[in-house]
Amino acid sequence: MAVGDFVFLDGAYLTAPEARISPFDRGFLFADAVYEVTAVYDGKCFDMDGHLTRLKRSLGELAFDAPPALDQIAEMHAELIVRNNLTEGQIYLQVSRGAYGDRDFVAPASTVPTVFAFTQAKQLIDTAASRNGIRAITVDDIRWGRRDIKTTQLLAQTLAKQTAKQAGAQDAWMVEEGLVTEGASANAWIVTQDDVLVTRQISNSILSGITRASVISRLGNLHFEERAFTPDEAKAAKEAFSTSASALVMPVVQLDDTQIGDGTPGPVTRSIQRAYYEAMGANVQAVAPWALA
Ligand code: PMP
Repeated sequence: MAVGDFVFLDGAYLTAPEARISPFDRGFLFADAVYEVTAVYDGKCFDMDGHLTRLKRSLGELAFDAPPALDQIAEMHAELIVRNNLTEGQIYLQVSRGAYGDRDFVAPASTVPTVFAFTQAKQLIDTAASRNGIRAITVDDIRWGRRDIKTTQLLAQTLAKQTAKQAGAQDAWMVEEGLVTEGASANAWIVTQDDVLVTRQISNSILSGITRASVISRLGNLHFEERAFTPDEAKAAKEAFSTSASALVMPVVQLDDTQIGDGTPGPVTRSIQRAYYEAMGANVQAVAPWALA
């Protein structure tokens, strides 16, 4: 991924080496920070309203003093796209509770949030992983109880992805009390043998994915259920995939040692990829002909 030359920090557009954050920043000391990752295609943010709505909710749940205005956040995203000449990739935004030159568990009421954003250019749609699918392993979900808040406290997920990498897989699906919660950085979906699409219902146990909601709004006549499923049900499924703003609709063709379906992305996954890419404004025939097969 190529980081754009310009980043945004506290109202200014700077080159990355110019951007400096206090070591007392509570994002650094406590992971007292929330974030968003928004997909960019054809120079435009996709599902921006959803990301802003979730950001507002995350900021509200942590009760930040003087949170940034959402319309300014949206304008800043557009400006970063222009300054970095970004056509396809993503924008990372982080808002921490800020710094005040000391460390206390409870911050003074008047801290000013630190707002930081940067762009990453990368292929979102036509990747080997989107074409061929990925392998995932299952790991224990060792996270805290408020996974509905999109905080930068991501150690459990980085460990899960590291374990996946060591196992030769590209992702980890996290399991709690015998049920899949979600992927390490994506929502988890299966297509059952009865052709029912299943993804876990929204609760504090998972992040309410913006891509998940966007996919649900485009399911048309497909049968769909929101409920938890076990790793065994996923392994016995016809198809599996995950959804996220950074990997869009990602086929999962193996879970642990079990191949899912015939080990290639299935027709339902392909139809959902197609619908999603079209909604982003992509000419699927031109940029992802494999999704039409
Ligand atoms: N779950 C987790 C744990 C995530 O980290 C993410 C992406 N950051 C998602 C789900 C997917 O959310 P979205 O579709 O909004 O990217």
